[in-house]
Amino acid sequence: MDYKDLAELIFPEAKDISYYEEKYPERNLKEGAIVSRIAPSPTGFTHIGGIYQGLIAKKLSEQTEGIFFVRIEDTDQKREVKNAIVEIVNSLKDFGIEQDEGMLNENDSEGAYGPYKQSQRKKIYQAYAKYLISQGKAYPCFCTPEELDEIRTKQENAKIRPGYYGIWAKCRNNTIEEMAKKIQNGENYIIRFKSPGREDKKIKHKDVIKGNVEFPENDQDIVIIKSDGLPTYHFAHVVDDHLMRTTHVIRGDEWLSSVPLHLQLFYELGFKAPKYAHIAPIMKNDNGNKRKLSKRKDPEAAVSYYKELGIPKEAVKEYLLNIANSNFENWRRANPDLDISEFDLQLSKMSVSGALFDMTKLLDVGKTVISKFSAEKVYDETIKWAKQYDKELENILQDKDYALKVLGIERGNKKPRKDIAKWSDVKYIIEYMYDNEFYSKVQNYEYQVINEKQDIEKVLNSYIEKYYDENDDKQTWFDKIKELSGEMGFAKEVKEFKANPDKYKAHVGDVSTVLRIALTGRTNTPDMYEIMRILGKDKIKERFQKAIEYLH
Ligand code: GLU
Repeated sequence: MDYKDLAELIFPEAKDISYYEEKYPERNLKEGAIVSRIAPSPTGFTHIGGIYQGLIAKKLSEQTEGIFFVRIEDTDQKREVKNAIVEIVNSLKDFGIEQDEGMLNENDSEGAYGPYKQSQRKKIYQAYAKYLISQGKAYPCFCTPEELDEIRTKQENAKIRPGYYGIWAKCRNNTIEEMAKKIQNGENYIIRFKSPGREDKKIKHKDVIKGNVEFPENDQDIVIIKSDGLPTYHFAHVVDDHLMRTTHVIRGDEWLSSVPLHLQLFYELGFKAPKYAHIAPIMKNDNGNKRKLSKRKDPEAAVSYYKELGIPKEAVKEYLLNIANSNFENWRRANPDLDISEFDLQLSKMSVSGALFDMTKLLDVGKTVISKFSAEKVYDETIKWAKQYDKELENILQDKDYALKVLGIERGNKKPRKDIAKWSDVKYIIEYMYDNEFYSKVQNYEYQVINEKQDIEKVLNSYIEKYYDENDDKQTWFDKIKELSGEMGFAKEVKEFKANPDKYKAHVGDVSTVLRIALTGRTNTPDMYEIMRILGKDKIKERFQKAIEYLH
């Protein structure tokens, strides 16, 4: 009996690997094309780090005309969560990270290199395990959990490295006949890789992000096929990324120390290893301490947070690129209007120790991103968000034509307004443009420099009776506020006021403030000329009357 017979005995049904090698040929892509993927486990894909990795992998494949796919790693069936695949797929969609291949829902996939869910690939792994056994590079291990415990205890007592290796790897020295006999007797077993490595030897490796790293060789006879017939992560990774023709494995840096094992598996299987790029986790500054963004402590770690607050995907992606490559900021400054697809993301420029995430900055980026949206887009996105999270806002926005005017204030020009960071900001930002909201909310007009009743009343009455004309252009409109200031004995120009501060009680800006407060209840609003044009004379008058009533 030889290894081939043993392999046949263990996996009689498994195909020859040539079948799969032909079925999943080299991809016909242009030179330098990156094939990458994300490979989440269906245990709930709710961390923003998943989106970060997805964005990076997707962007690199896009930049090089490669392929980005989504593979579901569900070999640990105990940890599985219901509908988790749909959740993963939807989260990626929410952020506009479109896959070229991969799972579409719990069971279906698209693409010629599937199945893209590991539990549907059992036969494939078994074929490759069979191949290794037939080469004498893998073997059945019959150790019981008790025996493994005993080995561990002995190692602990002797203070030596734990694991199944060297002299501790009891089953690796069984003869073929012994192994066959145990199998025929119905003993339980799993399949282990027979590692050719030596712990006292070093391997050097160049990670695309981390640079040169050095590790001891792997000498552990790790499990490749578990008792349920499914592979371990290590084996599945190597088989899948080989057959799916992945060129770059971009994954969390918790896997960096597994590289010696993975390279060994690639080598022993006779495959070319992909490039590895290990991404450091997203970090957060916590009172001066840099720590991992944690789902338990930080709401912004959850993917759902962005959706609930209505932070647009464009802003999140822009910000994530910002922290991915530090040169992004300069690029953006030089190219304020280019789409992020034009930015050339480089793995070699990624932070080795972990990029810092800062919510305030993200919201700032959001303001700039939204400032470039058309009123129509702001409307569409806001109403979509409001339908799910804010019925009141949805109602407010019912009159689309009016809403477009309101949202169009100071938009589409050279210096657009930058006050909306997220869709949940919109209600507060526009509500004074709606009578119901305005009258129900305005309580206390807080006048500033000009705050005496008679002055306020006079400003408001004179303005609406003598000065306001709906047909005025902006310059005329403003000149009239100056005239009104003159009439009141205030400075018509701020300059004049500054030159003679004792001569005047107030200036034209203070008069504008009175108008603004009476009109909106606020001291800060976008362009008042535009606000007045949208409200129209009757409403302005009504609001001024209301403001005057409040004075008494
Ligand atoms: N399932 C692994 C994880 O979620 C994937 C790592 C990889 O990308 O290979 O960490």
